[in-house]
Amino acid sequence: MSGIQARLNAISAVINYKPSHAPLNFHDTKPTDIFGCNVFSEKVMKDRLPKPVYKSVIKTIELGEKLDASIADVVANTMKDWAIEKGATHFTHVFFPLTGMTAEKHDAFLVPDGKGGAIAEFSGKLLIQGEPDASSFPSGGLRSTFEARGYTAWDVTSPAYILENPNGTFLCIPTAFVSWSGEALDKKTPLLRSNQALAKQAKRVLDLFGVDTKLPVTAYAGPEQEYFLIDRNFVFSRPDLLIAGRSLFGAKPPKGQEFEDQYFGVVPRRVLSFMMEVERELFKLGVPVKTRHNEVAPSQFEIAPIYEAGNLATDHNQMIMTTLRSVAKRYGMVCLLHEKPFAGINGSGKHLNYSVGNAELGSLFDPGDTPHDNAMFLVFCAAAIRGLHKYGAILRATVATASNDHRLGANEAPPAIMSMYLGEQLADVFDQIKKGKLKNSKSKGVMSIGVDTLPPLPMDPGDRNRTSPFAFTGNRFEFRAVGSSQSIAGSQVAINAIMSESLDYIATELEKATKGDPGKLNAAVQTLLQKIVKEHDAVVFNGDGYSEAWHKEAARRGLPNLKTTPEALPVLGSKECIELFTKYGILTEPELKSRVEIYLEQYSKTVKTEANLVVRMATTIIFPAAMRYQSELASACANLKAIGHDYKMGTLDDVTAKLRGMQEAVAKLEALMEHEAKDAHAEAKHLCDMVLPAMGEVRVYADALESVVADDLWALPSYQEMLFIR
Ligand code: ADP
Ligand code: MG
Repeated sequence: MSGIQARLNAISAVINYKPSHAPLNFHDTKPTDIFGCNVFSEKVMKDRLPKPVYKSVIKTIELGEKLDASIADVVANTMKDWAIEKGATHFTHVFFPLTGMTAEKHDAFLVPDGKGGAIAEFSGKLLIQGEPDASSFPSGGLRSTFEARGYTAWDVTSPAYILENPNGTFLCIPTAFVSWSGEALDKKTPLLRSNQALAKQAKRVLDLFGVDTKLPVTAYAGPEQEYFLIDRNFVFSRPDLLIAGRSLFGAKPPKGQEFEDQYFGVVPRRVLSFMMEVERELFKLGVPVKTRHNEVAPSQFEIAPIYEAGNLATDHNQMIMTTLRSVAKRYGMVCLLHEKPFAGINGSGKHLNYSVGNAELGSLFDPGDTPHDNAMFLVFCAAAIRGLHKYGAILRATVATASNDHRLGANEAPPAIMSMYLGEQLADVFDQIKKGKLKNSKSKGVMSIGVDTLPPLPMDPGDRNRTSPFAFTGNRFEFRAVGSSQSIAGSQVAINAIMSESLDYIATELEKATKGDPGKLNAAVQTLLQKIVKEHDAVVFNGDGYSEAWHKEAARRGLPNLKTTPEALPVLGSKECIELFTKYGILTEPELKSRVEIYLEQYSKTVKTEANLVVRMATTIIFPAAMRYQSELASACANLKAIGHDYKMGTLDDVTAKLRGMQEAVAKLEALMEHEAKDAHAEAKHLCDMVLPAMGEVRVYADALESVVADDLWALPSYQEMLFIR
């Protein structure tokens, strides 16, 4: 099929789209019946497990106590019976390798009974530990292939669940993935470790304040997930979208997002159907998705769940991404989770709302009514200020990927400089602490919005500042630099680690100053808070993070500005990072070094694939189209000359010049791709500094050609078609 025919077919397929399956029967099944129906939940366990076993499991889940392995057989058996009732034939340990993906390997419950039949079997051993062939997962030198064994270990704190397929169902068991010698090969293990460290240090601070709580303190996460939906027919005609998940070519459309008519607009019908099915699938899995809306860019949307304990929220976010991708196909669309699928319009991020607390205490970042009274709140807040100031570069490194580089700092996402937005009220409180006088905080104003029938709304003390990467929003911090396709584990690990270190410091200082006398606490807190603010408030910035002035000011304040992935990633292997992570038992030096290696390699693979695509598409799709047009123009000129017209060859000259320019740019890019680098970092740097700009140069010519070549010769679906036909 010729290119242009594929494009026309795509458009016609979109226009004539009909749903391929019957609508959901939403009248008969209430959302409340569906929610959690495929989860081996606490309720299911309570109903089915013997009481002592149930109690033991709950202890592990709620109090973080070590799992009593002797109960595993009973749990496994009950889980198996429950799963089989739900039609499951197989089970799988689900794990999260460093690729950021979700991995699974299925095994049947059935084993031959030796008499020609089969019985279903599932032992405690199989529940607790699995052994997938781990040799193809990146380990960054942690494990050589000849000892490829990696183990998956049951994570009791994230419930097992059933996944459905029209042809059957299977049981999924969330697991951690570790090497033979116990090194973390995944995203979950360090997350669990960091949560433990946080719980321990937070407890020390709570003890000082005389706060008694049975439950461990935990981190909470509420990730807002942005994504694009594009008709799959367009994606099939665009090798770049299909392979790289982003467009490497495409002229700016006559209309982009400048009308600002998309944000919170009416959701298109097909998209709404998709969203409803996504939510229904996620409800079954117990994922508490709550909000849905259009985002700023055309064809961009957001889904956000209610926040949960960090580990669970992370697993659920992986399920959200998987579900978005798979349900989109049923509606003839592709869900693009890439951070920047289309140049010139907004990219997608994942705002990670983060707090520390537990069910008894609520959020420890919740100021209460007059913040300055709430010394404990100020202490936790100061811990965050100190941590972000000391270790901002580490947090920055956790969001460093090839795809997120296109978004960070592109005046739509926060800059790569890690700073903290506190809002006027809280900034004022800390300012007073710094000056040593703490009277009353600027009281929460009441916002009058001028409509008499509406009640007055209390003003959010952390009003919005979208340009800040780390913003206080009333009872939590919102870390806005995470990429839409990324796991939220890495950033949480870093925040938990820096919070642990700061709380450790604070607890130690306060313990020293009070010497067990609670009467001395207030004075000690005052002194310590003042010291922390004086030393670390350089990280606090309430202004416009996009402005040039801030970049200068940040440099003056000594805040790092690690603009690209090759600059940012090595921080994970730095001395201070190794010290921080080993001190709290989160990651060892080899584990950290392996991560730097793996992530650099992923960066390089991504950019190389894209560079290959640029060469291929420029050569086999764009060049032929432009050349056909050139030859049409040439013959038109010749014909006109032949009948005596004095024809100006402006367009022909223009097309010829652009074609030549593109060919030269492709040749230059190809030459740069030959480069042999001395190590992984040098390679990533070369790709970043040399290859990416060269790809951009090819694109400049190609996009210029798109704007002059006859539309009926152009084979690639245009931005306009992809973003506005749906
Ligand atoms: P917005 O787009 O206005 O920032 P959303 O409702 O889209 O708000 O998302 C906010 C996210 O923050 C939700 O996932 C919400 O559950 C979560 N959240 C709210 N309170 C907390 C908290 N204390 N800790 C962590 N996350 C929270
Ligand atoms: Mg939102």
